[in-house]
Amino acid sequence: MNVYNAESISKILKGEILQQAGHPEIEHILLDSRKLNFAETSLFIPLVSARRDAHQYLAELYGKGVSNFVVSETPDLQKFPKATFILVKDTLQALHALVAAHRHQFHIPVIGITGSNGKTIVKEWLYQLLEKDYNIVRSPKSYNSQIGVPLSVWQMKPEHELAIFEAGISQPGEMVNLEKIIRPTIGIFTNIGEAHDEGFLNIRQKINEKLVLFMKSDVLIYCKDYLVLNECINTFHNQVGKKEGDNNMQLLTWSRKTEADIKILSIDKNDQHTRIDALYKNEPLHITIPFVDEGSIENAIHCWALMLFLGKSQEVIQDRMLTLGNIAMRLELKQGINNCSIINDSYNSDLGSLTIALDFLQQQRQHPTRTVILSDILQSGKSEATLYEEVAGLLEQQGIQKLVGIGKGIGREKRVFQQNPNLKSSFYNSTEEFLQNFNPQEYVNETILVKGARVFEFERIGKLLEQKAHQTILEINLNAIANNVQQYQALLKPGTKMMGMVKAFSYGSGSFEIANLLQFMGVDYLTVAYADEGVELRRAGITLPIMVMNPEPSSFDAILQWNLEPEIYSLHLFQLLEEEVRLSGKTQYPVHLKLDTGMHRLGFEKQDIPLLLQHLKEQDYFKVQSVFSHLAASEDPTKDAFTKKQATLFTEMSKEITQALGYPVLRHISNSAGISRHPELQFDMVRLGIGMYGVDNLPTMQEKLKNVSTLKTTIAQLKHIPAGEPVGYGAKWKSKEPATIATVRIGYADGYPRNLSNGKGKMLLHGQLVPVAGIIAMDMLMLDVTKVPQAAEGDEVIVFGEGLPVQELAAWADTIPYEILTGISQRVKRVYFQE
Ligand SMILES: *Cc1c(COP(=O)(O)O)cnc(C)c1O
Repeated sequence: MNVYNAESISKILKGEILQQAGHPEIEHILLDSRKLNFAETSLFIPLVSARRDAHQYLAELYGKGVSNFVVSETPDLQKFPKATFILVKDTLQALHALVAAHRHQFHIPVIGITGSNGKTIVKEWLYQLLEKDYNIVRSPKSYNSQIGVPLSVWQMKPEHELAIFEAGISQPGEMVNLEKIIRPTIGIFTNIGEAHDEGFLNIRQKINEKLVLFMKSDVLIYCKDYLVLNECINTFHNQVGKKEGDNNMQLLTWSRKTEADIKILSIDKNDQHTRIDALYKNEPLHITIPFVDEGSIENAIHCWALMLFLGKSQEVIQDRMLTLGNIAMRLELKQGINNCSIINDSYNSDLGSLTIALDFLQQQRQHPTRTVILSDILQSGKSEATLYEEVAGLLEQQGIQKLVGIGKGIGREKRVFQQNPNLKSSFYNSTEEFLQNFNPQEYVNETILVKGARVFEFERIGKLLEQKAHQTILEINLNAIANNVQQYQALLKPGTKMMGMVKAFSYGSGSFEIANLLQFMGVDYLTVAYADEGVELRRAGITLPIMVMNPEPSSFDAILQWNLEPEIYSLHLFQLLEEEVRLSGKTQYPVHLKLDTGMHRLGFEKQDIPLLLQHLKEQDYFKVQSVFSHLAASEDPTKDAFTKKQATLFTEMSKEITQALGYPVLRHISNSAGISRHPELQFDMVRLGIGMYGVDNLPTMQEKLKNVSTLKTTIAQLKHIPAGEPVGYGAKWKSKEPATIATVRIGYADGYPRNLSNGKGKMLLHGQLVPVAGIIAMDMLMLDVTKVPQAAEGDEVIVFGEGLPVQELAAWADTIPYEILTGISQRVKRVYFQE
């Protein structure tokens, strides 16, 4: 077992071996062609969705050394003489069946976790609590989907003694598959949110679907205080019992309110800690955890219940609960010293999460040098030699140029890294030793992944490498952008291309970081407003075609040098550019024609077309890539007749041009609102802007989007002032009552509109809206926080984003989200993260 081959896999899948000439051993499953790490021993299973069919990557992967494939359509075998193909009906089903069969070879306790919140934290905390006792395999990050779960469970190896997997679903019918793959012996149902999820009729349906995960479990741990959950579980418990003939599933419950196996007696919080007292089997017990928030308390009690179930002693439980640590739920990309970018993942190190972090490093390829600072990998269950050989292989496959190894284990195996001629490596025995020898000049223009197990305290290294941010930051959620792009892609007819609008610093959210993500996601085109924005993207390694909307004569040489594609909107511009291209000796230079269909901003009008065509036919300097126009009011239902008129005119004008040119030319007119509101206007391509950044006027579309940017600041000082005292410039704003005033580190120079002074603007503090007091200053402003008594200096304040939509702020300021987003000044540091 453990090593599979074509025969054993095709037997499991009941598939047909079409050809057998690939590598004889199969160890890894590959689903995403961009995440190739172990070419030789990988089995590629191309998944098929409505929009994408991954069979298209077979040749590319074969070229990179992959030689084992499961397919649902027969390829041209002559093109793959050294490969193995197993034919199945449905590749996703095959993936599930293969991993389910893998799972069934193991007879160890498997913990399955589901619920609305806390799955990943409970899983990671259980790992922290139990890693001393067991060799544990667990889901990487939040791998809990139809694809994430099989990849997680596939990691199970004979040396493992305990498995912890999480499962999440988005619609009915999905849990059956996950149950077969995880087959948990121990279940934890964390909680259930009231939120009405898309895909479920009501909360009971959602609970019952999730309960399917525990069909065959021996025990189920949950909190009785979720009343509907408790009811559903009791019904489920009776039914499962009847079906199996013998009701042997144990329920292990806890409650703050009623009788339960673990009856919570009291919860006492001080500054940093919470002590929880309970009664279990008539015995008083307690734990103390280094957290005070309600979510953490609930998560910790679930873990406590599990430790009691496993029979851990009071002493062990109490000791370990005290050491629970924060979980990095996300990979963060920050600006570093000497123009470096830092990906800080200093909470754990295992092969699974290292692979994920390296994939992220691969996606963010802005700097010429890629560096990994890596600690010993603990608890891998492999011998050091095998382990670091695998790590060295990973680094080589990913083209990493620099390695800093920290720890005795990795140091002992330094020879395998030194064998790679393209890798510069150095080794230190401890974090302390590294810090003592740290020289900032050794890190210039690099993307650096900092990845270490918790005990190595790599956050100390992160602090040295990261640029000091002043305490106002704009956080950008890269997963949210990916989600939003996919939501719009799902609305497109097959074959319709997508252009990502990354003008104005990607609507304020970044430049190459966003472009890298869009390139990674397979977006077809990028658009910037000015040439220098395009040059910056090219310098950062972006290879997608880039359209420039305002090609100024002073930037023509840069446009040609960096292969940017100008938009031509007038004959005058046509002639200037034509001359430039002629002088450069180029021909067939890619350009885009902008048509004015009613916006009256830039573009050729209908009567200009004959002359334009005449010019086009007389020359060979330009090759027209696309003709396009812009909708003036696509978001406004009262202007739909106008939009229609624009579209009709565009159809006529573009037809005149494409017919005359006689070669294929892309046509496009829709912006974000055009995509969501006017499906008939997609033509050959659409241009996605604000929607990708999380804003759409159409409520049904807005629901599907995720918040991308969150602007956060902090309280610099708190003051208690008597009634009648003025606050701020002009000394005009006065509180009628005694008030608590918080000064926060953001002002109009950061892009917070000054017209939000005197209570027009509000911010979110501890979940409550608090108004601006007095006039907004350049770098600071004051908030009236009287109604938030727990406010303290240093507390985080949300200006907009998660919990306070940017649309709301824009409405207070009598403007639109576009202006707020693009107006956040560049001195506000951007922090990118990926969950
Ligand atoms: C900015 C812009 C877009 C994107 O518009 P959104 O409303 O942000 O989607 C599309 N086309 C042109 C020409 C633009 O200038």
